[in-house]
Amino acid sequence: TNEEASAKAAAASAESGAPTIFDKIIAKEIPSTIVYEDDKVLAFRDISPQAPVHVLLIPKLRDGLTELGKAESRHGEILGHLLYVAKIVAEKEGIQDGFRVVINNGQQACQSVYHLHLHVLGGRQMKWPPG
Ligand code: 5GP
Repeated sequence: TNEEASAKAAAASAESGAPTIFDKIIAKEIPSTIVYEDDKVLAFRDISPQAPVHVLLIPKLRDGLTELGKAESRHGEILGHLLYVAKIVAEKEGIQDGFRVVINNGQQACQSVYHLHLHVLGGRQMKWPPG
């Protein structure tokens, strides 16, 4: 399908080191609603929210992490920091009592942007299993 083809193209493009839309968000060349920022990570509202709270959390430096599946031992620190900040974001958003953290990895999991990102979702009753 067209969707599969464009997902593959996005993956191949990111693999080659090409910037993604998230680089423009980090550079503030395109606007986003930032909910948390430090020197290593940025959290901003998803443009197409799937829950009342839907925040994307990304490392500012991609450093090869187009997807979680590319993680190496040296990424341990940033990966830990991202999970910790997911909790901070949940608190800031008032969903600390019930929230979900999602990482879509690869085409079969519907990953569409090849710069590692955590989805932090909440504010409604979530369902299990996810689709
Ligand atoms: P994925 O499908 O790769 O797991 O998640 C990518 C997410 O990025 C999607 O939920 C999509 O709505 C979001 N997204 C794509 N482009 C933009 C954008 O320009 N701004 C914001 N805030 N979110 C975006």
